[in-house]
Amino acid sequence: MRASNYHINTLKEAPAEAEVVSHQLMTRAGMIRKLAGGIYTYMPLGLRVIRKIENIVRQEMNAAGAIELLMPVVQPAELWQESGRWVQYGPELLRIKDRHDRDFVLQPTSEEVITDIARNEIHSWRQLPVNFYHIQTKFRDERRPRFGLMRGREFTMKDAYSFDRDEAGALASYDIMYGAYMKIFTRLGLEFRAVAADTGSIGGTRSHEFQVIAETGEDLIVYNPDSQYAANIELAESGPLIAERAAPGRDLEAVATPGAAKCEDVAAFLKIPLETTVKSIVLATEPAEGPARIWLLLLRGDHTLNEIKAAKVPGLKQGFRFATEAEIVEHFGCKPGYLGPIKTVKPVHVVVDSTVAMMHDIVCGANREDFHYVGLNWGRDLPEPEAVADLRNVVAGDPAPDGKGTLAIQRGIEVGHVFFLGTKYSEALKATFLDESGKPATIQMGCYGIGVTRIAAAAIEQNHDDKGIIWPRPIAPFEVVICPVGWGKSETVRNTANDLYEALRERGIDVLLDDRDARPGVMFAEWELIGVPLRVTVGERGLKDGVLELQARRESEATKVGLDEALDQVLAKLD
Ligand code: ATP
Ligand code: MG
Ligand code: MG
Ligand code: MG
Repeated sequence: MRASNYHINTLKEAPAEAEVVSHQLMTRAGMIRKLAGGIYTYMPLGLRVIRKIENIVRQEMNAAGAIELLMPVVQPAELWQESGRWVQYGPELLRIKDRHDRDFVLQPTSEEVITDIARNEIHSWRQLPVNFYHIQTKFRDERRPRFGLMRGREFTMKDAYSFDRDEAGALASYDIMYGAYMKIFTRLGLEFRAVAADTGSIGGTRSHEFQVIAETGEDLIVYNPDSQYAANIELAESGPLIAERAAPGRDLEAVATPGAAKCEDVAAFLKIPLETTVKSIVLATEPAEGPARIWLLLLRGDHTLNEIKAAKVPGLKQGFRFATEAEIVEHFGCKPGYLGPIKTVKPVHVVVDSTVAMMHDIVCGANREDFHYVGLNWGRDLPEPEAVADLRNVVAGDPAPDGKGTLAIQRGIEVGHVFFLGTKYSEALKATFLDESGKPATIQMGCYGIGVTRIAAAAIEQNHDDKGIIWPRPIAPFEVVICPVGWGKSETVRNTANDLYEALRERGIDVLLDDRDARPGVMFAEWELIGVPLRVTVGERGLKDGVLELQARRESEATKVGLDEALDQVLAKLD
């Protein structure tokens, strides 16, 4: 590519609203342009990065035996009604109507559609296992779409769905995807960690997230440096706390007066003294009869149960009572009907929320029936330092759940997520097949997401300096940029730059020749901002001594190389 035939438009300033560095730098580098909140045009330079990410993802998915198809962005509401998520998904699901007043959604994910495909296409055990995937635009009407491609409303996801004859098969498919993800994130050139995770509104029981390690990440990961243990804090938090606080055999519904629990009831129930300082407590119960209920006590700041009891906290609800749907939605930032899945929990079991409860099984290997699920919410919505400090108090340096060593904490960005789903969707949509004995059986499923566009942003959060982006080579928009100094004046410079450009192109290197005749300072600063891993400077002065200059984006010093060895040196530097 020659810069004169391309579109490069960098900006001195980032927009004021850009809070995170990837948003600032992608905008300044001219990689994205905002169309509306959380909705961006991928400009030519940005699109090159996204395509490279997609290619790596596609190659490894294909290598793992997954089969690509492409499902529509617009999906009929009927399928979502069938799965129950029309009600459960809440405001993140963008609902639209056609001219006949029929309901549709813009897909936030594709479980419903792929399960519909499976029930129509798969009839026999002979067709299983099979894993379908697509790389497609998603839409989620995120509450706070303020981080550029990190949390867009419209974004690109690779989502894959595995179909198996039985649970053992589905878990094997899960492991294959886990392996493929390890390869993908390694190939992308990112520092990452696979962590045990919460299953969110998708449901299911086994789940891992792939987290790109970055100081600016929204997620907190606890891990044991001496073992394999790693978990998203949302999950890690629930493990030890549940184990500590669980009171098997107790029943909050029974100790509390109908509709309201006193501080004493809750303290007794949780086996904590009234002097305990809490931020908020959220309990959910499922009584023997009737729907699940959430008990809620919301605090902003630290208060003891005693203070609450004595009504010393202004504006606070005294004691516990059933939360309204609006309060639940506000507190969790979640969707109405979010608690639907806990109906599978046995009566009178207590849960923080359905997903944490399910995670507890995985981390602690405990049997759900032995526990009441109780959690203290340490204020996910509180200002960052305070929340982090609290979390550190809870887990950093604590013994690890696996009995080996102590825990450490890191921040991460969720770039991939694998779930074992079981029959959640196949049961709802009646996706069955005939097994070897000719009997109908329900298909076992798994689903596997990768945030393609988020990866571009996460790579920057992890790799940047005060000059700009530092792309890992596998996803850099260009691998090498040739910067001729004096392009307009010197024929030797032009010829040398052109020759090197052609030679690199012949070897399949993604190279850009900056033939715009810009001043060196301007040109260098622009390519440092854009983050191309290697710059080759071709100048008349160097050429007089028979040398070119190589500047790796990550290194502080440039190196001079002889003209005859330049090509080899460039190739060597790229490896
Ligand atoms: P988050 O916790 O960040 O909201 P999620 O758990 O809701 O993400 P999943 O449903 O697991 O997301 O979707 C699979 C992948 O899609 C995520 O791991 C993430 O990389 C990506 N993703 C999810 N939401 C967004 C978004 N708003 N913008 C960009 N990528 C996203
Ligand atoms: Mg989300
Ligand atoms: Mg998540
Ligand atoms: Mg997720």
